Amino acid sequence: MSSERAPQSKRPLRSAKPVKAAAPVQLADSDGPLFDDLGLSEATLEAVRQAGYTQPTPVQAGLIPRAITGIDVLGQARTGTGKTASFVLPILEQMAKKPQGPAGVRALVLVPTRELAVQVRDEFEKLAQGSNVHCVAVYGGKPIKSQIDKLARHPQVVVGTPGRVLDHMSRGTLELRALEIITLDEADRMLDIGFRPDIEKILRHCPQSRQTLLLSATVPPPVARLATRYMRDPEILDFSSREIAVETIEQFYFTVDPTKKFELLQRLLEREQPQQAIVFCRTKRGTDKVYEKLARRSRRSRDADEVDVACIHGDLAQGLRDRVMKQFREGKVRLLVATDVVGRGIDVSGISHIVNYDVPEFCDDYVHRVGRTGRMGRDGVAYTFVTPEEGPQLTRIEVRIDKLLQRDEIDGFVAFDHRAEKSNATPGQTHATGEEPAKPKPAAKLLGKGRGAKRFRRAL
Ligand code: ADP
Ligand code: MG
Repeated sequence: MSSERAPQSKRPLRSAKPVKAAAPVQLADSDGPLFDDLGLSEATLEAVRQAGYTQPTPVQAGLIPRAITGIDVLGQARTGTGKTASFVLPILEQMAKKPQGPAGVRALVLVPTRELAVQVRDEFEKLAQGSNVHCVAVYGGKPIKSQIDKLARHPQVVVGTPGRVLDHMSRGTLELRALEIITLDEADRMLDIGFRPDIEKILRHCPQSRQTLLLSATVPPPVARLATRYMRDPEILDFSSREIAVETIEQFYFTVDPTKKFELLQRLLEREQPQQAIVFCRTKRGTDKVYEKLARRSRRSRDADEVDVACIHGDLAQGLRDRVMKQFREGKVRLLVATDVVGRGIDVSGISHIVNYDVPEFCDDYVHRVGRTGRMGRDGVAYTFVTPEEGPQLTRIEVRIDKLLQRDEIDGFVAFDHRAEKSNATPGQTHATGEEPAKPKPAAKLLGKGRGAKRFRRAL
């Protein structure tokens, strides 16, 4: 168990703290490896310097030297640990080592969402400066015509979502015969959202001789099966145990009646004054609702059209999603209400707060959501709203991250309705709904023997 955090009253006020400039602190130790030690060529090292990276992250230090030898690598690490550059640099290295052969895409990166496709493409461009390597992003929701035009100019690298990649393959606008490296980024997520058949189809069209890199925050059996089937004797590098604790992020929970969640959100935002925040909801409909209420509140308190709240989920048109992400990145949008699918992987440095308006359905989603703040060792804080029925979910999350979330309360806020008052419960107490407190199930039952017994605590 990690050490106790300071009591809440001693916590520095987040809002008073300017977000640090891109100061990577969660790098390898100061006496740890340098980029110079990873076996990269001078040209690639120069690109790394130009990108402003001074030292590799542990994931990069571990993965890059192995990947540039040409072997298949499966890297497990949580989000925000610099996984992108750990496959982008080996790809660039390969491009620099061998001149372009017959025209055709030489490296393909598959990602689960459109937002990630854009983000990975941008990281490529950042690191490919000075080389003649071009990268094109292909993803659904955007007219296919302009992507076809871009592909016709023979980029060496393509990043895309599996569906759109397949679409281009079947039109003959994307040809994988010359492929040297395929990367599956966020493999666990791609399988979660049903991309397995598409991914397998793509993999079957890749040359046998290619190198396969697979990055994933978790390696559940479906990811392991994919690796066994389509990778050649992969080397497994697991950084997860060191990093799962999301150490730099303070994590709190509130207990709250479902009907009082929005009020709690308002009060929390007032108290915290976040620089930028993502509010995660479980469903698209829920996301819309929270967004509409926040936008109404925001409109009331400022100029009619100056609203700094936005929302993003899979049902919105791609153009709108791109615009929202751009505004969020530029800081014009301060509060972003999002679902997990699009929230995953978002890398915006100003995010000071994460609010889990709904407890995530899967524990891994918690790790991904919370990983949106505190990127690269910066400070961040995450709040999770938990209803009385959701105690076991909270416990599962705590076991997953090996850390207890700290209980928080807002002065003067009554988290439960009148029924709770009648039953004489104080906000957040176990029997706040007026019912008998649920008996905690034995931890061993929930989690398998011998784990987490001391962590299994109160029903809410
Ligand atoms: P992940 O894929 O593991 O979630 P990313 O690759 O998106 O993480 O990296 C998170 C952020 O850290 C990005 O903004 C990236 O530009 C930055 N970054 C990555 N590696 C380094 C480094 N060695 N030094 C400084 N910043 C880095
Ligand atoms: Mg990533």
